[in-house]
Amino acid sequence: PKRVLSGVQPSGDLHLGNYLGALAKFAKLQHETPTFIFVADYHAITVWQDPAKLKQQVREIAAAYLATGLDPKVASIFAQSGVPEHAELAWVFNCVARLGWLDRMTQFKEKSGKHKERASVGLYTYPVLQAADILIYKATHVPVGEDQKQHLELTRDIAGKFNHDFGVPNYFPLPDPLIQGPGARIMSLRDGKAKMSKSDPSDYSRINLTDDADAIAQKIRKARTDPEPLPATLEELKERPEAENLVGIYAALAEMTSEQVLGEFAGQGFGVFKPKLADLAVEKLGPIGGEMRRLLGDPAEIDRVLAEGAARAREIAAPTMAEVRKIVGFWAG
Ligand code: ATP
Ligand code: MG
Repeated sequence: PKRVLSGVQPSGDLHLGNYLGALAKFAKLQHETPTFIFVADYHAITVWQDPAKLKQQVREIAAAYLATGLDPKVASIFAQSGVPEHAELAWVFNCVARLGWLDRMTQFKEKSGKHKERASVGLYTYPVLQAADILIYKATHVPVGEDQKQHLELTRDIAGKFNHDFGVPNYFPLPDPLIQGPGARIMSLRDGKAKMSKSDPSDYSRINLTDDADAIAQKIRKARTDPEPLPATLEELKERPEAENLVGIYAALAEMTSEQVLGEFAGQGFGVFKPKLADLAVEKLGPIGGEMRRLLGDPAEIDRVLAEGAARAREIAAPTMAEVRKIVGFWAG
């Protein structure tokens, strides 16, 4: 049976990339198939998070899930720390995954920077925990942005090796990433070669879901571009990463293809295109930010949703973990 799982880290302000690459897809999928969407607080502490703020950051992501249309009666919405089986399965997978596999992960290289010996061990084994997040529910489909493609391949490798080593063919499914559309890889507004990220220190690099209309317009106005008008073809656009990114954002927000956007704007300069893009972004994101603020006015209600979601998620996760203990041969199995 088809089962969907995805998550977002409470590691900073949610942005347009998170929305177009991930959140916008969740609400659509929930009506087609059982859907598990979590807030990844275990993942967030792979880099330092202030303990006094972490719980509130979790609530903000949960509010964003609800504001973008996830229905807690339909999907299971929960915090990772509400289902500790994720961590227990991750330990088993740490013993299945090979160092050589993790050494190839480009996200660790990017996030650990020049001094990888100072990065947390958790940042290194992050993709192993991610495999556990997915496979504890035996999820088959994982809607994520393009940056998670390599981690999904690692999940498949771990599932395959577990099934093989313990002699349980097909026990864990090999999940497929759902990476689609022009929104799957939104780039920084400051650098067309870096992805838009919560953890980017520059607030001007991203449009946050909670930015007001003025902030959105100002960030798009200041977005780095070249002086040429928009081209007529995708081939020409490909040579210009910043222009390609803004056209991609427009296409994703308007649910058009990039070709269709060029069809409308070819020959126009950014003086025309940027204000149109800003209007569109305000139209699409404004209501989401407003709804997030409203929901955050009642944190107890968000906590209730997360507690109920965790209970439902655990109904699936606990039996999987019980089976895994037996398969591995643990005393507690
Ligand atoms: P961090 O910098 O803390 O890693 P992030 O912005 O990368 O934050 P995550 O919580 O790691 O956000 O990822 C949440 C989801 O958003 C994932 O599915 C990820 O693939 C997707 N995503 C993140 N950045 C982008 C982006 N620039 N474009 C499209 N999707 C993205
Ligand atoms: Mg990330």
